[in-house]
Amino acid sequence: MVKINYQQLKKILPGLRRNILLKNYTTFRIGGPARYFFKAETKKDLIQAVKIAKRYNLPFFILGGGSNLLVSDKGFKGIVIKIQLSDYRIKGSEILTEAGTPLSLLVGKSIEKNLTGFEWAAGIPGTIGGAVRGNAGAFGGETKDVVKEVEVFNLKNLKTENIKNSDCQFGYRESIFKKKRNFIIFSVVLKLEKNSKKKIKETTKKYLIYRKERHPQEPSAGSVFKNIGIDKLKRDFLKKFPKAKKVIKGKTLPVAFLINQCQLAGKKIGKAQISRDHPNFIINIGDAQAEDVKKLINLTKKKVKSKFGIILKEEVYFLGF
Ligand SMILES: Cc1cc2nc3c(=O)[nH]c(=O)nc-3n(C[C@H](O)[C@H](O)[C@H](O)COP(=O)(O)OP(=O)(O)OC[C@H]3O[C@@H](n4cnc5c(N)ncnc54)[C@H](O)[C@@H]3O)c2cc1C
Repeated sequence: MVKINYQQLKKILPGLRRNILLKNYTTFRIGGPARYFFKAETKKDLIQAVKIAKRYNLPFFILGGGSNLLVSDKGFKGIVIKIQLSDYRIKGSEILTEAGTPLSLLVGKSIEKNLTGFEWAAGIPGTIGGAVRGNAGAFGGETKDVVKEVEVFNLKNLKTENIKNSDCQFGYRESIFKKKRNFIIFSVVLKLEKNSKKKIKETTKKYLIYRKERHPQEPSAGSVFKNIGIDKLKRDFLKKFPKAKKVIKGKTLPVAFLINQCQLAGKKIGKAQISRDHPNFIINIGDAQAEDVKKLINLTKKKVKSKFGIILKEEVYFLGF
């Protein structure tokens, strides 16, 4: 394997930095240093960084808004490539946007242009690329409902291709981009609909107020675990735990209920705490360490498994563990 040092790398990838603390790039405010860190402002930048990482066998990680991420205290011994591409264009009821555009900006632009369909995303941090990968959703809406097409860079053949919505294999917090790790999302076409600005504004405001009142305001990575599809519950589950019937929303059982029933809300390890406001959030109440968060995650999984026989699956992505 050809080895390369920082100075040599910097010559071929100007803008490359080293030992950059990742806690400053995550909403959790947790995480050690990236050995190398590069902000990709254009597709060309991004392709070059990926090609160089591959050529020199350096592990790399694509970072969006860092809002669904737990980075280890040791950091990441490779190149973190932060997606900064954030151009967008609005044509009729379609928004063509690069992957690094913040969701908040797209929600704002949709309101401005009287476009409905994206109100549910109000208050979700992160980028549209991250949202497409995880099929982010809230209040009954999901990214899959507004995506028409996704432009990706395929790491297998180093070529760009377009993937139609029907081929994205979207599911609850799932997509082809999450299942197969060989795609980097470059840009997305969102298909919205025209509606009255007043109505769009009202709905958006309602969702923002809900978040402010019910969700913790401390640093976090949002929901730690995926909610449970009721089709996944054992037959006698609702007989054994009748209280669960009251909290089922549509076809899902909120994990927050299970965590609450295990008396874990408010549980602290170090400066990490299971939120009392929303027990599926772990919050950073000081200078929390990733290890503390990991311990809380493991404890929650253990307790929920032992009380309910349910194996929780993480929604948060782990880097550097
Ligand atoms: C307070 C709070 C509230 C939240 N509420 C919600 C909610 O209601 N619903 C919800 O679904 N989520 C919610 N989240 C979680 C999070 O905001 C979303 O999952 C968001 O879509 C993640 O996007 P990101 O850009 O921050 O991704 P990151 O955290 O940067 O990355 C997450 C994963 O996506 C990958 N990725 C990012 N960009 C790309 C790209 N361009 N191409 C390929 N892979 C990429 C990364 O490699 C990583 O594996 C919340 C988070 C917080 C902190």
